[in-house]
Amino acid sequence: AKGAGRGKTRFFEIEMDNRLRERRAISNELSSAIARNELCLHYQPLAKIDGEVIGFEALLRWQHPQRGMVSPATFIPVAEESGLIMQIGEWALREACREAASWSQPLQIAVNLSPIQFRHGDLAGLVHSLLLETGLAPTRLELEITEGVLVEDFDRGLSILRRLKALGVRIAMDDFGTGYSSLSYMQSFPFDKIKIDKSFISNVKSNPQSAAIVRAVIGLAHGLNLPVLAEGVETRPQLDFLAGEACDEVQGYLMGRPQPIAQYADLIGQDGAT
Ligand code: C2E
Ligand code: CA
Ligand code: CA
Ligand code: CA
Repeated sequence: AKGAGRGKTRFFEIEMDNRLRERRAISNELSSAIARNELCLHYQPLAKIDGEVIGFEALLRWQHPQRGMVSPATFIPVAEESGLIMQIGEWALREACREAASWSQPLQIAVNLSPIQFRHGDLAGLVHSLLLETGLAPTRLELEITEGVLVEDFDRGLSILRRLKALGVRIAMDDFGTGYSSLSYMQSFPFDKIKIDKSFISNVKSNPQSAAIVRAVIGLAHGLNLPVLAEGVETRPQLDFLAGEACDEVQGYLMGRPQPIAQYADLIGQDGAT
């Protein structure tokens, strides 16, 4: 038994070692991904509950020459750990603003921000200069943040959020319901939108608890006079449930998958730049 135990420990050590090496390899390759043009953005429609598309969320994609398409769920955490998220986040923000500024329809463009981008540098200054550089109207830009921004350094996070808001951009609270203390943050900053995490939406027809949570979050948001968007809507019954609960906006495979913007040429007007 003792030998087996030791064998097991050894096995885990090797596994850990492999995972560490894998992360290091990804981190190295990621550092040249921008220069090599391996990053791109896919765009997923954001729609009113009646189906009218009001904008897109920009989602990072990494087309790796050997590994193929690497998921942001894999490389964003690596980029956050190494600090590369500063460069990658700036690239995504510039690219999304530039793209949206070229549309003939003045649709919203939502961009994800990492809490690390609030910790270092001058995020509000960067957003300001990117708006000037690309000519995008500030009111069209929506920045999606998670509560991590306020958990890590509340005062700093709050002050940057206020400066962003003063630029005229909108701030959405992403992944609502997955953290620990979202509720207290709702009263410290005037968010423009709440996005309910897709983990609740996927169970809404099978799990009464999930349905109750979604109902409660919509009630909370509306009590605060905030529009609420449900993420991860995949089926018609989920959409019908959300419509019955007066959810304002939806996003998910049912309305459209994240795709290169060319796939949505009809929605943005024909003269998109890329
Ligand atoms: P997120 O911000 O919560 O984005 C929504 C995720 O849900 C996306 O995953 C999207 O493809 C996926 N999704 C959308 N509709 C459905 C659906 O109906 N069903 C299911 N099962 N999934 C759906 P994706 O593109 O893999 O991105 C994962 C996460 O990576 C994002 O989660 C976000 O946290 C992060 N991410 C992506 N792009 C960026 C970026 O530019 N900057 C930062 N900091 N994070 C990013
Ligand atoms: Ca998001
Ligand atoms: Ca989300
Ligand atoms: Ca998420």
